[in-house]
This record gives sequence, structure tokens and C-alpha cells, in this order.
Amino acid sequence: KNTRVPLMAGNWKMNLNHQEAVVLVQKLAWTLSDKRHDFGKVEVVVVPPFTDLRSVQTLVDGDRLSVKYAAQDVSTHESGAYTGEISAGMLAKLGCSYVVVGHSERREHHAETDEVVNAKAHATLKAGMIPIVCVGEGLEVRQAGEHVPHTMAQVEGSLAGLTAEQVADLVIAYEPVWAIGTGEVATPEDAQEVCQAIRAQIREAHGDAAADGVRVLYGGSVKAANVAGIMAKADVDGALVGGASLQVDEFGGICRFH
Ligand code: PEP
Repeated sequence: KNTRVPLMAGNWKMNLNHQEAVVLVQKLAWTLSDKRHDFGKVEVVVVPPFTDLRSVQTLVDGDRLSVKYAAQDVSTHESGAYTGEISAGMLAKLGCSYVVVGHSERREHHAETDEVVNAKAHATLKAGMIPIVCVGEGLEVRQAGEHVPHTMAQVEGSLAGLTAEQVADLVIAYEPVWAIGTGEVATPEDAQEVCQAIRAQIREAHGDAAADGVRVLYGGSVKAANVAGIMAKADVDGALVGGASLQVDEFGGICRFH
């Protein structure tokens, strides 16, 4: 865990126009630069809607902010007749460091399969960015006690064809669907159980360097008040945060988890 830099990513979902986005990133940067608090070593990433990315880029570049930014989704196609889609090349050009692929809301509302998620991961890597690959089980699967095999199958399918070097730089977010936006946070032990299983599977499939390098995040109702217990777990390297990332005090508190 020591060599992996903790990563806190704030997924704004379909919230905030480009003006509100600038205000939030400015406040966040202000909070992170507050010398009264020790933020330790942490990578902070905001994940705004596509329409905010250009404004966020201008602000981050202009003020040399230490905040990175990511897109919430990407097309599997490079260019062409795909009305309404956004390519990985466009996102790379805007300075995105990461792209979230396979968020449960995409899997659910847009019927994204592991095959589609895998194609998006490849497209992201090809354009020089890092995918944040989301996996995790729904309530019924959890109640049936099938959460580990279910999530492992998603990891296998979503990472198909990636090299060990690519996996070493990857971010995987374990997000049990029953914990997203529900206020029902998984226990630190629940998070560790699956994050550990993900790393073990990667060790088996891609080797030690990939397993020791890949960052595995937990996501699902993370808040400033519950982040420390989750981050204390050996295989949890950060958090993917939804609701709480829209409130600068909450997200700042999450980034200050140490
Ligand atoms: C998410 O959407 O990735 C998420 C974890 O949401 P929330 O923190 O609101 O549960």
C-alpha cells in the first residue's frame, strides 16, 4: 500500500453547469491549499460532466492547481458518425487524466456490458489516459452471497486484453450498487473483502507488478465521517465519491482522511 498514492475522485454526475463547476474547483483548490491542515500525499480528481471540462481545464491550467480532472464516460469509437458521443481523443486533448468507465449508472441505464466497458478502457488507454473501471454487485447478488464471484467476473471481462503494464497503472473502483447514493455505506470489512479479492485476482492474471501497482478504490456513500475506517484497510487505495463530492467541506474532509 505504501507505494500506491491514495486517490480521491469526486464524481459530480449530471450536476453543475460550467460556471458552478469553476466555483467548486476554486473552493476545492483553496481548501486543499489550507496550510492549517495536513492533506498528506493524496491525488485529488474531479469528474465533471463533459460540458464543464473545458472550463475546468482553463482554471486548472491557468492557476496551476494540483487538482486533476476526469470524464464520466467515453465512446468506444475513435471518430465518425456517432452523434452525441465523445471520443477519448477529445478528452485527452482537454487534458483529462482519467476516464470513468462502466459506472453502475451507465451499466444500468445504458445497458453497458463488460464487453463495452472493456472497449472503453482500451479506447481510454490508447488516447493516453487512465481508465477508472467501475465494478460491483447489486443488492440481490449481495443478499445471495455472490458478491465476490460476481465482481471478479466483471473485473475479468472489463480488463480483457490489457497488458500487465497497463493494469499496473489502472484504477478499479469497487462500488456495491446498494451503497451508491443510498447513505448505506459498506463496512470497512465489506470493502476490504472485495478490494482484496480484486487484487488477488489481478496478481493471478497479470502478476505481482500489476497487483502491487493497481489502485483499488471503494465507492458508495463515502463521507468525511466514514472515510478513515475504509482507508485504513490494506487493499483500499482511495474512494470514488458521488454526492459528497459536490460539497467542498465534505470532499475536502475526505481528501484529508489521514
Ligand atoms: C458514485 O456515484 O460513484 C458514488 C459512489 O455515489 P455516492 O457517493 O453518492 O454513493
